[in-house]
Amino acid sequence: MTTPINGQTTLVGILGWPVGHSLSPLIHNAEFERFHLNWAYVPLPVDPNRLSIALPGLVAAGFAGFNVTIPHKQAVVPLMDELSVQARQIGAVNTIKIHDGRLVGLNTDADGWAQDCEKLLPLRGISLAISGAGGAARAVAVAAAHAGVRSILIINRTLKAAQDLAASLQQLFPDLQVAATPRDEHGPGQQLIAQCQLLVNTTPLGMGAPSETFAVPPSWMRSDLAVYDTVYTPAKTATLQYAQALGAPTRGGLGMLAGQAALAFEIWTGILPDKERMYHLLEKKLGLC
Ligand code: NAP
Repeated sequence: MTTPINGQTTLVGILGWPVGHSLSPLIHNAEFERFHLNWAYVPLPVDPNRLSIALPGLVAAGFAGFNVTIPHKQAVVPLMDELSVQARQIGAVNTIKIHDGRLVGLNTDADGWAQDCEKLLPLRGISLAISGAGGAARAVAVAAAHAGVRSILIINRTLKAAQDLAASLQQLFPDLQVAATPRDEHGPGQQLIAQCQLLVNTTPLGMGAPSETFAVPPSWMRSDLAVYDTVYTPAKTATLQYAQALGAPTRGGLGMLAGQAALAFEIWTGILPDKERMYHLLEKKLGLC
């Protein structure tokens, strides 16, 4: 039975704009109920223009913490009193813990992805290609560097963004081999990706129009190139379907979503919930099982 919200309820939530589509309230509230915690996870839709007043407001209202999603993940960074090493390296925060009235910014997208991706392929020593150069790409790249990948190739529509990410990774991880290439079928990408064992899609490609559905030109994909797609709706993107048809191992982004949520739950409550249970609830909600 759901614990009713009362005067003792501890509040957490998801700060974004918009947040109506978020599946996070579902999975967190299910776990609060399971562990008999008098906690509630609520949507916190905040217009970007009001971000700087919303944060002290949540501290003043006694929130224990909150998740941060699009478009605020980078914008909250300068508003933190303290940042974890990974959040600083990534330059984005997806989880905030409020401790003694101080905002502590962390990033669980990174470890949420790495732990889930290890189910597809061990990361240590591999050559990794990342499609995209935005916030998710940064989280994946930093997590992969910490997990001991040998090299990272950044593939992006806008070459400058790929080059900037590659340069900043090189500065953070001097021993890592990094390269950047445009997402251009006739560019050097195909030759560079031939050295890689894993491709991670961190673009929204696959969620959009059919003409743009592939994370990289399909001619770059191979049976020995495993593919992780951070997109989770649809569960089987065109990129994953194409890779599977070639015989390559694949995994979708639902496990990353469950993984980052489980780590955030632990940061707030001290209890690490079962990621698989959260994953199955998401699968059920999305009608995938
Ligand atoms: P972001 O910072 O806006 O970056 C988006 C990236 O995708 C940029 O590199 C952009 O390239 C590229 N891109 C966007 N539209 C494109 C198009 N039509 N063609 C080619 N490239 C395109 O976004 P983000 O925060 O990294 O999030 C990206 C995606 O990651 C989300 O849509 C979501 O599906 C996924 N994600 C999943 C999880 C999870 O838990 N599974 C968590 C976080 C994110 P340019 O530089 O050229 O603009």
